[in-house]
Amino acid sequence: MSRNIFSSVLTNKCPRCREGKLFVSNNAYDFSNITKMNDKCPVCGQPTEIEVGFYVGTGYVSYGLTVAYFVSSFVAWKVLIGMTFDLDDNRILYWLFSSIAIVILIQPLLMRLSRAIWIAMFVSYNKNWKNEPLAYNERMDEKMKEH
Ligand SMILES: [Zn+2]
Repeated sequence: MSRNIFSSVLTNKCPRCREGKLFVSNNAYDFSNITKMNDKCPVCGQPTEIEVGFYVGTGYVSYGLTVAYFVSSFVAWKVLIGMTFDLDDNRILYWLFSSIAIVILIQPLLMRLSRAIWIAMFVSYNKNWKNEPLAYNERMDEKMKEH
């Protein structure tokens, strides 16, 4: 059974083969290795940094995920617990503080998820990855890497 794109992204797998791990450490809370990636997918050889500064744009992805988290937790809180914008109603503050705390706690997971989403946007799954060599756009530009 091969993974689909969602489980492969959620488990931080290489988008090309959906087998190899993108990150060196399995533990996102291993703080010196949060975003440390394998240079190449250990299974199919897909470079994880396709060009220099490839992951600079992931800030937008993690921002989007954070906003999505706040919106969905706000809706869930309003439905399950209820809140008003009344000054005497502290429930909105509880929501705010708990959401901020959770977002801080899951930050390492979000950082990894953002990178996994990012690379999956540029590298597509190749079900013949075992037999087919890397296509040009899947290869890192070696000349750029020297700079
Ligand atoms: Zn791979």
